[in-house]
Amino acid sequence: MIDGHYGDEDLYPQVFFLRFERRVDRSGGPDACWPWTGPLDAKGRGKTNWHSMALRPHQVAWWQATGDRVIGYETCLHHTCELACCCNPAHLEVLTRSEHMALHNAKRY
Ligand SMILES: [Zn+2]
Ligand SMILES: [Zn+2]
Repeated sequence: MIDGHYGDEDLYPQVFFLRFERRVDRSGGPDACWPWTGPLDAKGRGKTNWHSMALRPHQVAWWQATGDRVIGYETCLHHTCELACCCNPAHLEVLTRSEHMALHNAKRY
């Protein structure tokens, strides 16, 4: 359900962030991976949602850390640590979709 309120500032995310944080394991310290402890998909990526919008936990982590909701077709958040469910913003970087695909293709093939 995407209604007219989607994207409005009145959907203030603090409560959502609090619930999100309870499901992130930060026990390793600031430099460690912070695994999502909530539901995962078949590829080991976390799943959550903000209202009716499906989000990856690392997208939420980036949003919380930077105030920037980098969720779009053309923009990707890449895990420099390669743990797909990691929620440490220090392990994420913003890439364009083509940069991201090139990076992963170079690694895998
Ligand atoms: Zn990590
Ligand atoms: Zn990536």
